Amino acid sequence: MTQFVDIAAPAATPALRRAGMTVFSRRAERLLALADGHPMRDFLLFCAALARAQHACLATRVEHAVADSASLRQLLTLLQRHLDVELPPDSHSALLCLLALDDAALQALADALRHGQYDARSPLAAAWPLLGAALQVQATIVVRQQDIAALTPGETACCPACGGLPVASVLRRGDSGHAVRHVCCSLCASEWHVSRVKCVVCGNTRQLQYRSLADRDAAAPQPDRKQPHAHRGTQELECCDSCHGALKVVSRLQDGNADAFADDVASLALDLLAGDAGYGRIGFNPYFLPAQD
Ligand SMILES: [Zn+2]
Ligand SMILES: [Zn+2]
Repeated sequence: MTQFVDIAAPAATPALRRAGMTVFSRRAERLLALADGHPMRDFLLFCAALARAQHACLATRVEHAVADSASLRQLLTLLQRHLDVELPPDSHSALLCLLALDDAALQALADALRHGQYDARSPLAAAWPLLGAALQVQATIVVRQQDIAALTPGETACCPACGGLPVASVLRRGDSGHAVRHVCCSLCASEWHVSRVKCVVCGNTRQLQYRSLADRDAAAPQPDRKQPHAHRGTQELECCDSCHGALKVVSRLQDGNADAFADDVASLALDLLAGDAGYGRIGFNPYFLPAQD
């Protein structure tokens, strides 16, 4: 297994990146590209349609105040209106039940989902990804209306801008030419800097392993010091042997179009393999909400 040298963030590396106006449209394009020939093609195509609808919601609501539950209800309705595919019948009826809740009940479910808590056996469960998608649009707008320059983020496990859980890490080439890692928020898609080799949950920097699907079929190549990232996977898992958590790492060094959310759902097979090896999934992705233990 290749070991990385921990690289401190160069001075020019932003400690916090806020999502731009194309965050959902770029995600939709990435999901479409990943769906081609994928075993989970239909699921990825539905996620792409959801991301397109999120883009339309963001474009029309970005100037509005959206933080309260009445606005969340509006976003859910708007999201459904902008979906260019038909909702499965169970999702459609669950969404109608969700919209029929009073503000306090809707807010309670939204607050729980923000923290990764949901009942996968609830009659409303088929609407959780839609609620999650609306929360993402809401959080993205709220954070775009904040002065994030006033924030001084640390290497935290939750988003410094909105408090959201991490979905995955994103690698880019920093100014020095080395890989720089940011952790992406599952809600507002802001990215905050965390050291290159560090478990975001427990802070462990030593007992970490990096696993990719390519590892199953190919012997690890000899490290090339001139191109240290040439043979790494676009989607890898950082597995912590201290807390036994695993967080996806998505590399824009490997593929400039890689997206934390899209590449995460396209590589769920990697989480299953890690689960078999005893590692629990750290990333929270509202597009994919499995049954919880
Ligand atoms: Zn956030
Ligand atoms: Zn850990």
